[in-house]
Amino acid sequence: MPLGVYIHIPFCLKRCPYCSFFSVVSTDKTVFTRYYDALIREIERFPSPVEVDTIYFGGGTPSIFPVEFLSNILTAVSSHLKVLPGAEITLEANPHTLDKQSLRLLLSSGFNRISIGAQSFSDRVLSILGRLHSADEAEESFFMAREAGFDNISLDIIYGIQTQTTDELLLTLDKVISLSPEHISTYALTLEEGCVNGLCVAPPEESRRMYHRIVRSLGDVGYSHYEVSNFAREGFFSRHNLKYWSQEEYIGFGASASSHLSGKRWKNPADIESYIAGCPPVVDTLSKEKMKDEFFLLRLRKTDGFSANEFEQFFREDIADFLAIPRIQELVDSGYLAFEGGRLFIPAEHLFVSDEIIVEVMSSFSLT
Ligand code: SF4
Repeated sequence: MPLGVYIHIPFCLKRCPYCSFFSVVSTDKTVFTRYYDALIREIERFPSPVEVDTIYFGGGTPSIFPVEFLSNILTAVSSHLKVLPGAEITLEANPHTLDKQSLRLLLSSGFNRISIGAQSFSDRVLSILGRLHSADEAEESFFMAREAGFDNISLDIIYGIQTQTTDELLLTLDKVISLSPEHISTYALTLEEGCVNGLCVAPPEESRRMYHRIVRSLGDVGYSHYEVSNFAREGFFSRHNLKYWSQEEYIGFGASASSHLSGKRWKNPADIESYIAGCPPVVDTLSKEKMKDEFFLLRLRKTDGFSANEFEQFFREDIADFLAIPRIQELVDSGYLAFEGGRLFIPAEHLFVSDEIIVEVMSSFSLT
């Protein structure tokens, strides 16, 4: 099966208070060049010319990197690995960092999908989130990407902020729907301490209400809800992210990037200078127990869960025995899990508490 390639660009114009991704604030051209050289070295060192059908540039803010660097990295991947025709090639971008010319260059370099971190179309919410862009800039960047020729655009939005009003959420949803992107990712704000720099997470009941509002509104206008937080028009599901949720293989290049290949996992150092110096990745040998947990942790995020076949091939066990585990049976009887058409999944009305349900499934199965 072809692999996914992930490229991490760990630079941002400003750190957002809620962010847990590895990135540093920098626009230093010398650092960018040294990091770019290290990335090219890592790609060229990769031992075998494997087949690839998705490439995802994430961060950080990949769109603050010079377009010529992004384009050359893509060329290095294409000349060193076998990128299949029709591969999905995504760039994450922040509204503040896009302009017409660079969007056109990105498209002509081979990028065919852009994921814009709009987060909200309320200026007040954007300011609470500490974002550098305004709602107008987010809208403008969407139009620029369309005009440049991108016909596969994703928008990210955040909900579950303590002072966020229903009107602010509805304003954002109306705007997103009117722009009609092919894909929408919606993330509940999460903060370890619940609050940071005046930004606080809404009470769970409020977040749940917002989540269901989002699910209803996007469903009403024809978006498929295909993963807990992701919605898309038919044919525009994120092929790259589906690989993660289906435990498929991928290679990550760049600081903090992870790889999963031939039963092995490794993760590059989450430090720019160590990465540039060529410090080796940390290898993680996957225990059977961890693989087993991941099967549920990842696949039950998808709204169609997993098939009896997938389960039986993975565990070499009959799914009927799994469904007969008393706690699993209880979860099915109470509607937190459904087994229909040979697939086990979490019904839409309970996806908001999918994490809790998955923990129950994992612990019930490990007890048997
Ligand atoms: S711009 Fe994105 S990656 Fe950078 S700090 Fe903000 S949320 Fe994190």
